[in-house]
Amino acid sequence: MFEGKTAVITGSTSGIGLAYARKLAEHKANIVINGFGDSEDIEKERVSIERDFGVKCLYSNADMTKPDEIEGMIELAKNQLNSVDILINNAGIQHVDPVEDFPADKWDAILAINLSSAFHTIRHSIPLMKQAGWGRIINTASAHALVASPFKAAYVSAKHGIAGLTKTVALEVARDNITVNAICPGYVWTPLVEQQIPDTMKARGLTEEQVKNDILLSAQPTKEFVTVDQVASFALFLCSDAASSMTGAILSMDGGWTAA
Ligand code: NAD
Repeated sequence: MFEGKTAVITGSTSGIGLAYARKLAEHKANIVINGFGDSEDIEKERVSIERDFGVKCLYSNADMTKPDEIEGMIELAKNQLNSVDILINNAGIQHVDPVEDFPADKWDAILAINLSSAFHTIRHSIPLMKQAGWGRIINTASAHALVASPFKAAYVSAKHGIAGLTKTVALEVARDNITVNAICPGYVWTPLVEQQIPDTMKARGLTEEQVKNDILLSAQPTKEFVTVDQVASFALFLCSDAASSMTGAILSMDGGWTAA
């Protein structure tokens, strides 16, 4: 499906980003993975993508808070894998605190990683997509791009911001065969979420089911986690020809959260 095309996925050393990378590689895109983590684990994952799917996979350690490193990651894709055809902005972090106690450095980091990095990847990739005459940009937003929760001022602001960026860029490139969309997951079952469960059980004296249903999934009517494979499959669809008329869309996959 994507033979000869290159996908750059930020924050793809774990969770949703890694699922995007493996899904697009399965459909023959060459891949640039990015993110932090244990260097041996990252190398194992990189090699496994190449071996399992017969594509090229490069790793960029670009820090999404650093515009020059972001530019370097796009240059890597251009120089070693010809272009950037698919760009998925996915890197993200969270911090939870009341706004009056919210550390300013956490605010800056969340805005930089969850929002500004997408501005930089997009501005460097669009000329390449225009040159190729085709492109797909997907931003991993969140239910928090549409609704707020208390104590997440930076995250909610960044995710609302990414919805605005998605719509604006979609309008600018609408005649260039480039689509720009945002996926808004609810709670997704990632290692990050899984690891919170034992501590929360202990801290609150709850069972695993109680932690999942009453704490984590309190806002999600289905009481089921979204899976990384569901999010990645949605991205695959957005990259297909069938989705060529979908652009500027802020698309929920949240078990009904934002219907309430
Ligand atoms: P995760 O922690 O498993 O993945 C985050 C990725 O971002 C990792 O690869 C990490 O190394 C990378 N990253 C963090 N800081 C970085 C930096 N400065 N530079 C480069 N990479 C950096 O989390 P996840 O749950 O897979 O989240 C991925 C995206 O999905 C995020 O944007 C998150 O906001 C969004 N999201 C997650 C959920 C959920 O429930 N898990 C729900 C809605 C939206």
